[in-house]
Amino acid sequence: MSSVAELIRDAADAERSAAAPAPTPSHRRPIALRATGSTCDTDLGLEPWTIDARPGYGPGASVRDRIPGDAPRQGPLPTEYTDASEDELHRRIIAAKSALGERVRILGHFYQRDEIVQHADFVGDSFMLAQAAKAHPEAEAFVFCGVHFMAETADILSGPDQAVILPNLAAGCSMADMATIDQVEDCWRELVEVLGDEPDASGRQPVIPVTYMNSSAAIKAFCGRNGGIVCTSSNARTVLEWAFERGQRVVFFPDQHLGRNTAKAMGIEEDRMPLWRSHLPRGGNSEADLRESRVILWNGFCSVHKRFTVGQIERARAQFPGVRVIVHPECPAAVVEAADGSGSTEYIRKEIEAAKPGDVIAVGTEINLVNRLQEQHPELTVFCLDPVVCPCSTMYRIHPAYLAWTLESLVAGDAPNRIVVDGSVAEDSRVALERMLAARP
Ligand code: SF4
Repeated sequence: MSSVAELIRDAADAERSAAAPAPTPSHRRPIALRATGSTCDTDLGLEPWTIDARPGYGPGASVRDRIPGDAPRQGPLPTEYTDASEDELHRRIIAAKSALGERVRILGHFYQRDEIVQHADFVGDSFMLAQAAKAHPEAEAFVFCGVHFMAETADILSGPDQAVILPNLAAGCSMADMATIDQVEDCWRELVEVLGDEPDASGRQPVIPVTYMNSSAAIKAFCGRNGGIVCTSSNARTVLEWAFERGQRVVFFPDQHLGRNTAKAMGIEEDRMPLWRSHLPRGGNSEADLRESRVILWNGFCSVHKRFTVGQIERARAQFPGVRVIVHPECPAAVVEAADGSGSTEYIRKEIEAAKPGDVIAVGTEINLVNRLQEQHPELTVFCLDPVVCPCSTMYRIHPAYLAWTLESLVAGDAPNRIVVDGSVAEDSRVALERMLAARP
């Protein structure tokens, strides 16, 4: 468990033992209202159940983000939750959590709002949380405060009798949704047509599929049954090295930026990384381009991280001479190159913990995490590179009303919104995940 989690859990325990005192006022206001800068969408002032009733991803999503037709949708929340004050929701969450005890664990992603994170038993990135689920076989259920693909991974890695619950089914991930299993199967068929499926003289396959953790279980399973593997933003380089030992090239789903940044850091030339656009024949590439390729990049991106620009970094450096700039590798390559360092959310968290008092750090990642890091480190100046407040539009869907509803349903003996990955999809996904674990560090 991370020290962030310990801090937050200690705070939650202290609150519990103090008979549910009134929460900190700043925790009770939506992020848009706490923000001093402008926001990317006026809908950030709305509660998620208002947004859930409309088609689309909601505030901050890119116009290119399209929800797949078969994506799960959240039904209406009872009015006793939508009408409840934030203080009431806070007290009800604490009471329900206390009644459930260790039977139920709450997992909170780093990008969740503070009023959710303060109730989490474990706080981390998607893989840390899936591992937390795996490490607690005694729990009957995990309430996963994150997005859909993360809950799927937790279900795959947890025991068959353990339930994984997503408090709001509308919490998908626009990046994960950019690669559907049908598109990926079509891509694979076209690649085999051009590249064949016979290994070369040294036994290396023509192409190895690699998927970022931020993908559906169906894509992870595809990789598992086709000799491929999963990666995280922490181990992408190790995983690509694993793949190049077994293949002549890699097809990387769904985040083009993580794939490009990792391959560039390994010395692979950008002109050997064709982009695969799924609506075009051969992804919009010539046969020669595909034969010459080393990494074929799926045309996906994260709407949060693609907002960061080199101009923002230049402005930060002009305003704060000596500022250290660190960004997530889901940012575009030019941003990663202009930064002083790049890495996963866990890397960013550790960099800030290691900073000296007085240091100024500009961060290119999701704003809930950046704001929390600043609150935890008043001895530093930590700020988000993007002056416009734009949280992840799907993480934003987990509101205390959904958490209170989920926990009280569990107290009443119901398990709503259970995310289940079964059959061959779970088995094949597990193969790809186990390969990643074996490919460590
Ligand atoms: S921050 Fe980006 S990758 Fe993460 S859940 Fe949100 S849209 Fe998906």
